[in-house]
Amino acid sequence: MKYLYIANWKMNLSFNQSIDFCTKNKNALQQLAQTADIVLCPSFIALAPIINMFKDTPITIGAQNCSEYATGTYTGEISALSLTEIGITYCIIGHSERRVYYHETTENLIKKIYLSYAANIIPIICIGESHHDFLNKKTFTVLAQQLEPIVLAIAEQQYHNKHIIIAYEPVWAIGTGIIPEQKQLITIFGWLAELMHQYLPDYTVQLVYGGSVNQNNITELKTIFHIIGCLIGNASTDF
Ligand code: PEP
Repeated sequence: MKYLYIANWKMNLSFNQSIDFCTKNKNALQQLAQTADIVLCPSFIALAPIINMFKDTPITIGAQNCSEYATGTYTGEISALSLTEIGITYCIIGHSERRVYYHETTENLIKKIYLSYAANIIPIICIGESHHDFLNKKTFTVLAQQLEPIVLAIAEQQYHNKHIIIAYEPVWAIGTGIIPEQKQLITIFGWLAELMHQYLPDYTVQLVYGGSVNQNNITELKTIFHIIGCLIGNASTDF
């Protein structure tokens, strides 16, 4: 499997900026895609034109979120079904910004994950502890609380597409320029790999790291066993 780069542009790039990025970097992205798997996650309205730009390339497109409802009277929401209809392959679910700013709970996330799988979209599930929890040595407790109900819920279903991406993103590392020490990452990812194997033994599980990944730390991150890719925020807006 190739190394996986997931670019989460959040709301950092406007519609025009997202299209400009793809136009300017289309060739370079395609070249990079020979040795790495690339997932671009622009904001909703840029998804369809970007899917169209990359339709004959190995570059895939992900959404940053989807509705927890299948259909209905939910003004302003976008369903997983609509996303799959326009050609979305992945959906980020449970980013810490959504958990914190939009109060998304594990229950909400499980509904989104169910609907993503039903629409044949691979979920990129984000987990991560706060700085307070990290300082109080509660990292594993928090990660288990976030992840176990989700993987149990998935294990109860019989999905055709048995592929899942887990992004470990310590909240204190997102946008701060700080990343955990290498030995912490080795321990956390070893633990995550075991937990995922225990709950979802028949799934293809990809474990990625996110939080202040940039050109200075990517080389070291790539040496860590079990980390098969990165979810990149700010640095991904500059090719
Ligand atoms: C993120 O928000 O998913 C992220 C990893 O952001 P950044 O790379 O900017 O820390």
